[in-house]
Amino acid sequence: MSVELSVVVPVYNEQESVPELHRRLTAALTGVVRSFDVVFVDDGSRDRSWEIIRELASRDAWVKGLSVSRNFGHQMAFTAGLDHADGEAVVIMDADLQDPPELLPELVSRWREGYDVVYAVRARRHGETAFKLFTSAAFYRLLRRITSVDIPVDTGDFRLMSRKAVEAFRRMPERHRFTRGMVAWLGFRQVGVPYVRAARHAGETNYPLRKMLRLASDGITSFSYIPLQLASWVGLAVSGLAFLGLVASVVVRLCGGGMPAWAIAAAALALLGGMQLVAVGLLGEYVGRVLDEAKRRPLYLLRETVGLGRSDERPPAVTV
Ligand code: UDP
Ligand code: MG
Repeated sequence: MSVELSVVVPVYNEQESVPELHRRLTAALTGVVRSFDVVFVDDGSRDRSWEIIRELASRDAWVKGLSVSRNFGHQMAFTAGLDHADGEAVVIMDADLQDPPELLPELVSRWREGYDVVYAVRARRHGETAFKLFTSAAFYRLLRRITSVDIPVDTGDFRLMSRKAVEAFRRMPERHRFTRGMVAWLGFRQVGVPYVRAARHAGETNYPLRKMLRLASDGITSFSYIPLQLASWVGLAVSGLAFLGLVASVVVRLCGGGMPAWAIAAAALALLGGMQLVAVGLLGEYVGRVLDEAKRRPLYLLRETVGLGRSDERPPAVTV
């Protein structure tokens, strides 16, 4: 029988934090849920994290561990964890105790009210640099403007998902994974719960600027066509202006005004340049569609069905 709650924790060089997280999770969940387990996913750590996870697992039956073959990155690590977590609800949280285990009872109670996704919203953040706070706030607001999916702002990957949401999420096999967007894309009933994000328990961030930029670019390119369409808009604007300029200079010259021939040539060049940009944008539209097909996302997800026959006869392709 599956447990009521599974907690998935990606771990990369977190030997100081894992035992403390284990202790605080036990304290926070005992008596709150019927049963729970914790799936630690060791993402190719180079310190003693994996040995510590194995020790915990040999002591506590509710501790499980996965170790992937190398460092695949945070997003892949918890994807592996989600594939192996069988709770009726699953929480994803960081190992470094920036996501407080004490929030889990509240996430669970919203889930029991009937929500499928309960995401934790960072009301305040401790121990982050001004640079990270600013770039992250700016990024979420930009992303919100340029995507059609309603991705909540100031939300990381700390969230609870119902079994239904987890199964739906597992049907998204795309490689560039921007989980906070993918979960928003799922739909179902979602709700945010505010919390204060703590400082790291120990060690240093494993998200240097390079990885943050990669994640940001995954977020934008998997959920927005706007960068592909940019060329078209710039091209249209340039062509429009150049066309007006061309007409104006020809008219002025025909009327005997002093319009030099190079001005006409310049306007003609700008017109050509603009048209080329439009053509590039047009290619972008097709590339965008290829991208969509390549993601192989499910076409739709069902929230509920009624009167479709016995549950074991439901067509697997449409039921989650
Ligand atoms: N992490 C991981 N693989 C990586 C980088 C990070 O599994 O390649 C884990 C890390 O152990 C932590 C979580 O992902 O549990 C978030 O990473 P971190 O705390 O370094 O990021 P930050 O909170 O600074 O954004
Ligand atoms: Mg952290």
